[in-house]
Order: sequence, then C-alpha cells, then structure tokens
Amino acid sequence: MPVKEWDVIIVGAGLAGLALARLLRPRCRVLILERRVKPADGPRIGESLPGAASVLLQELGLLERFLSASHRVRGSALSIWDQETPIWQDALRDPSGPGWLLDRRAFDQLLYEGAIEAGVTIHTGCRQTEITRLNNGWQVHLSPEETTHKAPVLIDASGRSSAIARALGLKRLADDNLLCLYTFLKCRREDKDATLRTCADEHGWWYTVQIPQGKRVLAYHLDSTDPLWRQLRYPEHFLDYAKRLPFIADIIQEQSSEALKLHPAGTAMLDISNLSQAGKGFLAIGDALITFDPISSQGMFHALATAASAAKAIKAGFPENKKALESFQAEMLNVCQRYLKHLHITYSGPERFSHHPFWSNRCEMTPQAYR
Ligand SMILES: Cc1cc2nc3c(=O)[nH]c(=O)nc-3n(C[C@H](O)[C@H](O)[C@H](O)COP(=O)(O)OP(=O)(O)OC[C@H]3O[C@@H](n4cnc5c(N)ncnc54)[C@H](O)[C@@H]3O)c2cc1C
Repeated sequence: MPVKEWDVIIVGAGLAGLALARLLRPRCRVLILERRVKPADGPRIGESLPGAASVLLQELGLLERFLSASHRVRGSALSIWDQETPIWQDALRDPSGPGWLLDRRAFDQLLYEGAIEAGVTIHTGCRQTEITRLNNGWQVHLSPEETTHKAPVLIDASGRSSAIARALGLKRLADDNLLCLYTFLKCRREDKDATLRTCADEHGWWYTVQIPQGKRVLAYHLDSTDPLWRQLRYPEHFLDYAKRLPFIADIIQEQSSEALKLHPAGTAMLDISNLSQAGKGFLAIGDALITFDPISSQGMFHALATAASAAKAIKAGFPENKKALESFQAEMLNVCQRYLKHLHITYSGPERFSHHPFWSNRCEMTPQAYR
C-alpha cells in the first residue's frame, strides 16, 4: 500500500489548523485531515474578534482581504456585571482598536481559501483515523479510504475535544462544565442597537449583539449540571426567560427566534508541561490546547496566535531542536496563567451572586489551582 510522506500532518481544519498550514507553506509539505465533509450552513456563534488580531492576519497575508469583507467594526459594550448599574466600555484607549463583529462563516472560509491557495492539501470527511507512533514520527491510516500518511510532526487542531491528544493519553487539567444555550434572532429594521450587552444573573450570564446579515445572537451561559437549561431549550421559554431582564428585554422585544442550539463552552486545557508524553513531534494548538471561556472573546485570537507560535517552533527545528518545544511550552504556560488570572477576576466580580454555585465554583478556577 503506498505511503504518502509529509513534513506536517494537522488534524482539524478550524482557524488554528488552517492558519498553521498556511504559515508553514511553501517550506513544508502539509496535510490537513478534517472530519467534516463540508462546513455547516447558517450563522455560527463566536463572532467577536479583538483588534490585536490584525497583526496575526497581516502575518498570514490575509489582512487586506479581511478588511474588504462584510465584517462590522465592534461598537461599545454595555454590561451589568459587578454592579446592577450598567457600565459602558469602549475601545478609545485600546491601541489595537475596537476589533470586529464577524460574519463567522466568511471568516472561516477566508482561512480555508488561504490554506488552499498556499498549496496545503486538505482531506475532508476523515472519520476514522488510526494514529501510530513511529521511531521517527507519526503514521496516520485513514479508513475506509485505506490510505496511509507519515510525517515527523503531528498537530492536534481538533478544537475543544482535543481528540488526538486524548487518544494519545494526554490529560486535561481543566474541563469546566459551562454550557452555552443560544439562538439567532432576525433583527427588526428599527433595531439600531450596535452595543454588545452582557448581563450576569444567579444562574450564569447573557450576551446579545447584532452580527452581520441582519441577525442578532442571544446567548445564555450556565452550568450543564443546572436543570434550568432543559427548561430553556424551547425558543419561547428561552425568550421569555431572557425578557425577565429589562436590560435585554429592551432589545429583543418581538424578535422571532430560530431553533435553540447548545454548545459546551467552558475552559479546558491540556497539561502543557507534559505535551511530549504524547510522543516526539506532537503539538496541540487552538482550542485543542486551551479552550477559552467565551466571556474572554479570545478564542479566535488564541487559535491564530498558537498557530503562529507552532509555526515558529517548527521552523526553528521542532522536534529535533528541544529548545523550540521548550519556548512553545513556556509561552503557552504564560498565556494560561494570565488567562486564568483574568477569568478569576471576572467571575469574582458579581459578588451579589457569590453564594450561587455557578459563581462560587468558577471563583475557584485560580492560576494556582492549575500549577
Ligand atoms: C458559545 C461560544 C462563543 C464563542 N465566542 C467567541 C468570540 O466571541 N470570540 C472568539 O474569539 N472566540 C469565541 N469562541 C471560541 C472560538 O470559536 C474558538 O476558540 C475557535 O473556533 C477555535 O478554533 P480551533 O481551530 O482551535 O477549533 P475549531 O474551530 O473547533 O476547529 C476544529 C476543527 O477540527 C475538526 N475536528 C474535530 N475532531 C476531529 C477529528 N477527530 N478528526 C478530524 N477533524 C476533527 C472539527 O470538525 C473542526 O473543523 C466561542 C466559542 C463558543 C463555544
């Protein structure tokens, strides 16, 4: 049976995998294996991109095309969080600018086209992959295609499931049970509200914002162990429950909702210090390495940034050059510590709810807990 040789095999064609693949071309022969046959239809949640991402898009050579697409510049944010009084925040003092509210499918497509254009090979519909460690790298066998691929470097970019890392025996240090229950509302013509509204309550927190293409996302984040989410699975219950909060009700009056969707959304992270236990030449990037809580709006930035860091390590001679792995790990541990510090401060904010399990459990997610 013919075996195809590559320099890098990446599992997962999300933002992280696609960005890494593009950054490695033309120097490396790169294969991406993607489980999906084609991208899902309809709007996708995960729309808020910080302004700092423009540096990474520039590095990818995609900034100009990104700026000419139909993404919206982020407006101000209005939140009821630490106190019951709404607080305004804008990006006036942020040197990177306000960032964007994305047409997320168009953004994913931009990265996909960027990888294809750079000469990356993408195999879609890869449902059964058998991964074997070799002395000098990795072998991936695909069924039912019955093709075999080999490379010295294997990357897990499979998103929050960390499917490959876990199959190779790596542990996750954190796996928070936050659940996001969300829907898209069709905006009324009179809905001119461009703010991102965030609001804490006893069971969790809400946000709503207009996204491109005349839609508004309405999302509630609560514990998957909280029986409330089962009651809220029906659009009418969900909207009624949201309307208890005047701050949200003002905006979503008489808007009609699409079916409700559910997504696990809590912090998850691999044991970064022990990545090499999976085998020589293994790295994880994007959500597969660290999944950020959506309150941070950092997931996409992190996907692109870890891709850039992994590309740097590979170009510096990873896996033969041990220093390349060490600096990747040191950088990611640093990101983790800073992220956990901010997460702890954010979830400790609404003291009025601190006796509710949703808030008290998350206050325990300190950087020290994951050292
Ligand atoms: C509710 C919610 C709201 C969010 N809001 C924001 C936001 O406002 N701003 C922000 O920056 N981020 C947000 N995010 C996070 C952001 O969407 C992710 O961080 C980002 O998509 C991560 O990209 P990724 O490439 O690492 O993973 P993914 O986008 O998950 O891509 C992983 C890819 O791997 C494929 N795959 C999985 N398993 C396998 C396998 N075994 N074999 C082959 N392929 C596989 C999947 O099909 C997928 O294509 C949000 C997330 C959630 C859940």
